[in-house]
Amino acid sequence: MRTPYIAGNWKMNLTPSEGVKLAKELAQATKGCNAKVMVAPNFVTIPGVAEVLKDSHIIVAAQNMNDNLKGAFTGEVSATMLKDLGVTNVILGHSERRAIYGEDDQLINKKVLLALAEGMDVDLCIGETLEEREGGKLEEVLTTQVTEGLKGVSKEMMKRITLAYEPVWAIGTGKTATPEDADSAHAFVRSIIEKLFDKTVAEETIIQYGGSVKAANVKELMAKENIDGALVGGASLSLEQFLPIVCFDKQ
Ligand code: PEP
Repeated sequence: MRTPYIAGNWKMNLTPSEGVKLAKELAQATKGCNAKVMVAPNFVTIPGVAEVLKDSHIIVAAQNMNDNLKGAFTGEVSATMLKDLGVTNVILGHSERRAIYGEDDQLINKKVLLALAEGMDVDLCIGETLEEREGGKLEEVLTTQVTEGLKGVSKEMMKRITLAYEPVWAIGTGKTATPEDADSAHAFVRSIIEKLFDKTVAEETIIQYGGSVKAANVKELMAKENIDGALVGGASLSLEQFLPIVCFDKQ
């Protein structure tokens, strides 16, 4: 039985005071809902949000971290610093990190292993571009991203990994993969996990869908066998839009 897991990636949005306000509202409003909930504020918004959410049911994640614990890495943030603020989770391999900042599977894998070694839980993002999908490369891309991203991860450590399947062409575009397309990509990802680990790990791994998830499509997506949650960008920035997603089962 996989517990539904809804995460909000705030990206480079919301100032510290806006983030704290939303975090307070969310903590209150989502109390009676069943899904596991996470928010990922920008680095400067994390301290205030982590403080507000410290005794709540909402998990605070970072959107990225460096692959080193400290040193001469101007502008970067380490797992040690995040943990000091009470951050327990980190999103790694987001398509914007891959496409805009040139992060490849090797670097992402280094970060995954470091986060796990530091006791943090990881939300590992994977997904194909439109060109790759139209070129028939969906399975090849997902196989590489999952296999390389999880290199060196043990079966035991897989309990602390969530995968987020986010077709790049559906992120922030208003285009959602059909629930059927998303479910079949998720089933394929689960089959890779089974090959890399075993059937039990594959059945227990939470796979979120990300790409223009909103109140209007979340129920249909979540009804699919292999879709266990959502990683939400734009619609996680206001209570009005995020609440019905987190509490999709009460809609
Ligand atoms: C994301 O960037 O993780 C995402 C899914 O964004 P959006 O919901 O805005 O498409």
